Amino acid sequence: MTPGVRPQLTGAPVRLRDVHIDYSDGPAARIDLDVEPGEVVMLLGPSGCGKSTILRALAGLLPITAGEVTVDGKPLAGPGARCAMVFQEDALLPWRTARRNVEFALALRGVRRAQRHVMAADLLEQVGLEAFSGHLPLRLSGGMRQRVQLARTLAAEPRVLLMDEPFGALDAQTRAEMQRLLVSVWERHRATILFVTHDVDEALLLADRIVLLTPRPARVSRIVEIPEPRRPGWQFQPDFARRRYEILAGLGHVSEDESVPLAERKGVTP
Ligand code: ADP
Repeated sequence: MTPGVRPQLTGAPVRLRDVHIDYSDGPAARIDLDVEPGEVVMLLGPSGCGKSTILRALAGLLPITAGEVTVDGKPLAGPGARCAMVFQEDALLPWRTARRNVEFALALRGVRRAQRHVMAADLLEQVGLEAFSGHLPLRLSGGMRQRVQLARTLAAEPRVLLMDEPFGALDAQTRAEMQRLLVSVWERHRATILFVTHDVDEALLLADRIVLLTPRPARVSRIVEIPEPRRPGWQFQPDFARRRYEILAGLGHVSEDESVPLAERKGVTP
C-alpha cells in the first residue's frame, strides 16, 4: 500500500444475535458475535464443533433456526454478493482460464464485456498471477488456484469475505505466502473477514480478534484480542508465544503445567 494513502473502507459490520443453527440431529451452533467493519476475525475450535456451519449460514447457504444475522444493518436474506465464500477446495470452472474465471464473476456482477478484461487483469495482478492468466486451472499449482479463487471472489466486490480453511490443503511455505498475500489484498480492499482455521499460528498472524468456540454446539468460549495485529515479525516475540499458550489452554490442548519450563516444574529434577 502506498504510504499515506488510506484505503477506502469497504467492509460491512456483521452482527449475530442469539443465532441458533440446528441440524436434524440436534443443535450445531449458538452464537452471539459482533464483527466490526473491516475487522479480521478468526474462528478457532475443535473439529466438528460447527465452524463451517456458521460460515455457511452467513453465506446464506444454510437457514438459521432462531435469532438474527445482520450485515451492514440489514437482515441476511439468502446468498448474495455482500458475503462471499472462499472454500478450501477450489471451486474454479475447469474449462475456463484463470482470466476467464475472474471475468465470469465480473459478468455475474453486470460488468460490461469491454471492462471485464481490464478489471480481471488488475485483479490477477493483485494476487501475483498476471503471467498465468491464460492457464487452465489444471495447469496451476494448488496455491495458484487459491490465488485465482481469491481474485474471482474479490471480483464480486464483497463487503464480507467468509474463508473456510482456505489454505488448509497447502504446504507450509505456500500457506505462509498466501497469508502474506491475503494481508496485502485486505489492506487494499478492507473487507470484513471471518476466517475458519485449525491453525493457531495462522489465527495469531492474521487476526484482529480470535474467537474460541466450544465443542458442538459451537458457542463463543473466549475472545482473544491481538494488540497491533499483523505487525511484521511478531511471531518471533514472547508475546506471540504467550498468546499461543493462552489459546491452546483455552482449547484444552495444554495443561497449566506445560506453560512452565520443564526444569522449573514441581517434582522434575533437571
Ligand atoms: P467444523 O467446521 O467445526 O469442523 P461443521 O460445521 O462442518 O464443523 O460440522 C458441525 C457438526 O455438524 C459436525 O458434528 C458435523 O458432523 C455436523 N454436520 C455438518 N453438516 C451437517 C449436515 N448437513 N447435516 C447434519 N449434520 C451435519
